Amino acid sequence: MSFSLPETFAKLPRYPLLYPYPSPIHPLPALTRHLNHNPRSAPAVSLFAKREDHSSPLACAGNKYRKLEYIVPDILSNSSLHGPGERSEAKATTTLVTEGAIQSNHTVQVASVARRLGLEAIVILHKATGGGLTASSDKDVFLRTGNVQIARLLGAEVRMLEDSSTVDNSDPITPILEGLRAQGKVPYWIPSGASLHPLGGLGYARCAFEIAAQEKEQLGENGRFDYVFVACGSGSTVGGLIAGFKLLQKIEAQRQDENAERVIGRKVIGILNSPTKPREYHEGRVLNFARRAAYLIGLDPERDVTPEDVQLDDRFAGTAYGELDQTSKKTLAFLAQEEGVIVDPVYTVKVMRGVMHWVQVGELIRDWSRRLESSPSEGRVNALFIHTGGQSALSAYADIE
Ligand SMILES: *Cc1c(COP(=O)(O)O)cnc(C)c1O
Repeated sequence: MSFSLPETFAKLPRYPLLYPYPSPIHPLPALTRHLNHNPRSAPAVSLFAKREDHSSPLACAGNKYRKLEYIVPDILSNSSLHGPGERSEAKATTTLVTEGAIQSNHTVQVASVARRLGLEAIVILHKATGGGLTASSDKDVFLRTGNVQIARLLGAEVRMLEDSSTVDNSDPITPILEGLRAQGKVPYWIPSGASLHPLGGLGYARCAFEIAAQEKEQLGENGRFDYVFVACGSGSTVGGLIAGFKLLQKIEAQRQDENAERVIGRKVIGILNSPTKPREYHEGRVLNFARRAAYLIGLDPERDVTPEDVQLDDRFAGTAYGELDQTSKKTLAFLAQEEGVIVDPVYTVKVMRGVMHWVQVGELIRDWSRRLESSPSEGRVNALFIHTGGQSALSAYADIE
């Protein structure tokens, strides 16, 4: 299956890291049956999963590879946006440097891309980020299993930092980059989750077009995924999707003849996985990421992407980032046993909590009737859960009860 992008978007350089076909979408039949027992929820909601954890042959496939596809050309270019910075002569990047929480999936994906490109990788892991390490009863295990083990297997140099900048507001990264330069290396810095990178939102803007192309196959000619539920961590996955769907909606509206039924856009809902910062903080960031991607793909960022397009839900963030609390644990086990699908303990389990709540208590259908501007009496609403990966962290959570 192929799909085409509008010209401005299609011209942006992308280095393939994913399989040359879309990541699969499949129904979640057991979950759909379970959640539609509520008589209040008519019409029924059909649930599907898009498997971003099956998107790439590289280690521990997850959502960061899609973002990195648009960043690699910059890494390889001699006038990169985030690489060696000002310099008199162009030098090729030697070392990718990135950071994350101890069990960061992002750092593993960067380490694996470094291998693919023949570069070194340095991953900086912060012990103070989130609650995973604190909650773990065997800290030694948490610090060497799961993603930490995999980053090392991939040949990355793992540096663990005790603090975080909360202690004295110092920036631990600049001295590391300077140290590498002093050794004659040319580091390329990739911020956490690649979200603050100017190109970080493009991968998921493209993914919106991939999803739209898959709708026909999955749902028939006029079917669409009315709701898309996705994790919001650093924010450019949800931001990119918003930008991509806005561009699609614009194209679809231009194509539509005047007599056709009103097209209702797909609604993206970002589920926050950390209670540390308020929802408004994340909404501001996601709006920026969406607008930055929107600009690059040919939209008018201010007019075409508005604060109303950013919908984040902070009710399922649980006790802390990276902490697998009792409710999340139950959700993880439920999905494993009913559906045979494993979600990750940090992000997708919280998205699942959100999806289940939205459907089970009828919030999704209420929202749908508001958007339809009438009471839906029949038919189905389709909701897509984006499985962004991350299961490789699970072994670090083995002892948590
Ligand atoms: C990084 C990550 C996310 C969050 O994506 P952002 O773009 O940072 O919001 C979600 N799920 C998994 C498994 C991740 O590794």
